[in-house]
This record gives sequence, structure tokens and C-alpha cells, in this order.
Amino acid sequence: MTDDVYATRRDRAGERLREVGADALVCFPSRNLRYLTGFATEPGERHFLLVVPAGGAATLLVPELYGTQLREATDVADVRTWADGDDPRAAARDVLDDHGIRDGRILVDDTMWARFTQDLRAVAPDADWGLASEALGDLRVRKDETELDALRSAAAAADATMNDLRDLGADAVGMTERELAAWIADRLAAHGGTGTAFETVVAAGENGVKPHHGHGDRGIRAGEPVVLDFGTRVDGYPSDQTRTLVFDGEPSAAYREVHAVVREAQSAAVDAVEPGVTAAAVDRAARTVIEGAGYGDTFVHRTGHGVGLDVHEEPYIVADNDRELEPGMVCSVEPGIYLDGRFGCRVEDLVIVTVDGCERLNATDHGWE
Ligand code: ZN
Ligand code: ZN
Repeated sequence: MTDDVYATRRDRAGERLREVGADALVCFPSRNLRYLTGFATEPGERHFLLVVPAGGAATLLVPELYGTQLREATDVADVRTWADGDDPRAAARDVLDDHGIRDGRILVDDTMWARFTQDLRAVAPDADWGLASEALGDLRVRKDETELDALRSAAAAADATMNDLRDLGADAVGMTERELAAWIADRLAAHGGTGTAFETVVAAGENGVKPHHGHGDRGIRAGEPVVLDFGTRVDGYPSDQTRTLVFDGEPSAAYREVHAVVREAQSAAVDAVEPGVTAAAVDRAARTVIEGAGYGDTFVHRTGHGVGLDVHEEPYIVADNDRELEPGMVCSVEPGIYLDGRFGCRVEDLVIVTVDGCERLNATDHGWE
């Protein structure tokens, strides 16, 4: 990715700030920081701030030990540092003063730790405060080509891993959920992914009724469905897909019926995705199939969520979201049926909204075999 990408994003962020009537945006180590500078790090106890004013160039205020790194890794010209032993709040006050925004309207990262928002309030007691999503939400929801390429690559790594899982077949029987989750992590890395994008779900048998089960010490048995929901990252962008497989033997007739309903619901919802259709209508398309088959009460979550630097972000594919889909948006489509005490079933793909429909990012078979 060229530096232009980030300078352009910061310029557009400045425009958005003016549109929403804000004077500046302050990020800490967050997805927004990565989006606007390309630099990613975990939040820590030291003050680490990016100030993007509505007009003019951005300033980074970082701990001294990050100075060289940030000057090399980003195209932000104004990188200031504070040393351990200095008061970082005084340095933050100077930055806000230099941008003339200490009594303005300032948006902070939605995820900023309270200790940093409290310090900002202390150094700018006359400012009005809001959340960064107010300005950046509309930018981040439509992905540019750089982002779409990363999402495609991450989806390909997940798809290759899902195919490996099918090939594993009967060899998975006897492994624990935890062992299989570790195996999946290895395969994701082998296919070019970095880490796991969220806690890998390997939910065997009755554990499958908990959509966010994670993985535990239960063994995988023949003839039972296993919900497999995992992702990795490429260039910071995640994949997220689900298949529900039976590794060996034959599942019950009840499960076959449920799986067929979930597949049909998932296809109906993907078919509904196109520009101008609301998120609610996509949710309705999946729900209509599941309700029609008599399982309405067992579909206990929304149909999907947007995917970008955050695995869960706008647009949420949920009954009360009247937002219309637009080209460049990316979302999951993942209906499920969960029968308490018995099993769960979910099928999930990511799709990109295109000018005339959608592009599926996941291409592996939907079957349980
Ligand atoms: Zn998922
Ligand atoms: Zn998902």
C-alpha cells in the first residue's frame, strides 16, 4: 500500500469532520489509527495520540521510544514525542492549542480507554466531545480496492483451510475441539494468514447451540455436526466464514433437514444483496425461509454484520436497520438454527456489494459432508 492511501484517507476524514460540524478527531492505538496511518499497535499505558484536524495536517504525539518507528512507518510529517518522566497531558494540551481546537468539538475513538478520554477532558475542559464513528463510519463502511484485495486474500486463506478440514474427515474424530482449533490456526498460517481474527469456534454436538462457543475439551464424535467458524487476517483485514461439518458417519435425519433449511436461508439472503436493498430486507430474506420451515424461534441472532478492520462493524444485517446497501460495503450472511441440547447449524459467507449485486468472498461447498 502506498503512503498516498493514508494521506488521502486523512484528507477525506478532514472533509467528513467539516460535514459533521467537528473540529478534530483524536485516535489512540485503534483500528481508526491503522485506517488513517497504516500503523498498528496494541494500546498501552502510555499516551499515544493521532490528532486529525478538520483543516490542516495531522499530528502524532507518541512516547519517545516510538518516535523513529512512526517517522519511518507513516507519512505523518508532524511526529512529536514525549519522554518517560514528562507529563504527556501537557504535551497533548500543546498539540490541541497548536491546532486551535482546545475549545472546539472533538471526536475521540469509540474504543479509546477511559483514562485517556479523562485526560483529554482535563486539558480541554471547554471542548464538546463526540465519537469518531460519527465522521469515520461513513468512510470505513465503503471499502477501497486496497481493502477489498486484503479481504479477498484473507477469505482465500480461510477457504483453503476449510477445504483442508474436509480432507481431514474421519481423522478429526477423537480430537478435542481445542486440538482442532489449534490445527485450524496452523493451517490458516500455512495459507498466508496472520493469526486468528477472533476466537476460533469449534462447537461439537450440543455445544453447537452456543453461537459464540469458542472451543473446549469436548471430543469430536462421528455422526455429529461440528460448527466451524474461524478467520485470519491479511494486511490487517479479517476473514470470517462458517461451515457445519460431519467428519465421519451419517448425521440424523433431523440434522439433515435443519442443514438444508439453513443453506436455503443463506442462499436467499445472499441473493437479496444488491445496492439499494436495506440491511433489514436481507435479514428478512433469511428469516422468512427459517420461519417458513417452523424454526423461527431458533434463529437467535441477526443475519450478519459488516466486516472491515473490525470483524463486526456497520452495516449490521438486522431487522431494524433501514440502511441501504451500497457498492463497496462488505458483510457476512450467516443464518443459523440452534436446537437446545441437540445441535446447532450455521453457514456463513462474506460478500462484497457490487454495482449490480454481490461478489461472494467464500467459495467452498456449503454441504455438511
Ligand atoms: Zn463467523
Ligand atoms: Zn460473522
